[in-house]
Amino acid sequence: MNKNFGRKLEIGPTDRTSEQRTPESPLFLIPEAARESFVPYVTDLPVPRAGENDLTRIAPGRPLAEGDRIEVFGRICDERGRPIRGALMEIWNANKWGRYTHVDDPARQPLDPNFIGIGRVMSDDNGEYRFWTIEPGAYLARPDIGRWRPKHVHMSLLGGSARLVTQMYFPGDELLKKDPSFYLLGDAGERHIAVENKSDQEGFKAAYQFNIVVGGRNATYFENE
Ligand code: FE
Repeated sequence: MNKNFGRKLEIGPTDRTSEQRTPESPLFLIPEAARESFVPYVTDLPVPRAGENDLTRIAPGRPLAEGDRIEVFGRICDERGRPIRGALMEIWNANKWGRYTHVDDPARQPLDPNFIGIGRVMSDDNGEYRFWTIEPGAYLARPDIGRWRPKHVHMSLLGGSARLVTQMYFPGDELLKKDPSFYLLGDAGERHIAVENKSDQEGFKAAYQFNIVVGGRNATYFENE
């Protein structure tokens, strides 16, 4: 054992923990490929079919859901700006009235028979994704204390063995100022507000750009960290 290598923190004269924790060999960098936990998603499940990223109607030819149709698009990249390709993105959002199509949603707002509010899409070779949905309504998350959640879209990214879950917010939403989840993001909160653009698709209210960064200083905040 090379006792001269590395630092040695003394704890006490009869305690060998320090020696046991001191590296015996020089450190070496693990190859980059092995350090990447977020790699393209490989699955036995069927890849998303065309139309799974269109939440504005249940199926082609079916009636449109109620509310303002919006586009959401963006780029998924790593800390160095390299695109993350083939990440499976799942999204879900409440309907126009702030109600989820989910048995556990206790809200008394109406359900929309033409809106399920869940979708999937795979990022392309440039790490880009795009979907179409209905602008969600804000909802009363805690009726007991009168706390509302601002409008938001939930997003999950699957890559390799990692699943990252985050939320996209809307610009100019007054409720953001009072939302604890948003408040906790601190200065990083700004990155979680989508940028509003004009949609060039007819009948769409807006196109929101929301880029996602996995890791690094400008990382998107993931709830499961
Ligand atoms: Fe929500």
